[in-house]
Amino acid sequence: MKKIIIAIDGYSSTGKSTLAKALGEALGYRYISTGDMYRAVALYFLQHGIALTDEEAIRKALSDIELRFYRTPQGNRLHLNGRDVQDDLRRMDVADLVSQVAAIPAVRREMVRQQRLMGQEKSLVMDGRDIGTVVFPEAELKIFLTASPEARARRRYEELKAKGVEVTLDEVRRNIEQRDRIDTTRADSPLRMAEDAVLIDNTHLSPEQQLDCALELARQRIEDC
Ligand code: C5P
Repeated sequence: MKKIIIAIDGYSSTGKSTLAKALGEALGYRYISTGDMYRAVALYFLQHGIALTDEEAIRKALSDIELRFYRTPQGNRLHLNGRDVQDDLRRMDVADLVSQVAAIPAVRREMVRQQRLMGQEKSLVMDGRDIGTVVFPEAELKIFLTASPEARARRRYEELKAKGVEVTLDEVRRNIEQRDRIDTTRADSPLRMAEDAVLIDNTHLSPEQQLDCALELARQRIEDC
């Protein structure tokens, strides 16, 4: 059977990672949330006090950072220099810094290089902001996710509360708005929908309905190829 690359892009907290994981499991494909990679870089910058204006320190940090995804029955876990940091990636201090880190061209260059290596064998679902436009413009299926700001804030708030993160709905809403603003207006690889992407608004869709819709699209593309 033909192997394809599925690119999922969209605004913050639209459930891209949840869809990528479910699609990957249904198709027997690997799935990678590239937001976790940018979050891990932001975490490293926080841990090492790296200033966003210090080009030399950023260059050194990028050569010192090693990122590896490990598959577990509960989902992927990202290791940063040999340490499992998955539970730290949703921290609010990381969420507040990540979009500024992701706007730095040197950071994007290195992440995109690593992401393209992961796509060499195809059979991959990758989610992020620039997957269909920059990382894999040739992806056989591109999905762009959106949902109302209220639904997105509420879902992320519930998710964080369930994980025991101390946060208010208002803080979550502000963080989502700020990340969308930075992600859509940055000079390097701004978030935008690829011309050949399929738009899914999941405001009123359950995760199952969304998965059915995406799976149908994926199966069509696999047959067409
Ligand atoms: O997907 P997630 O919300 O975890 O991504 C965190 C942040 O990482 C985004 O707000 C964005 O600034 C950045 N990002 C990016 N390009 C990607 C994936 C994430 O700039 N491909």
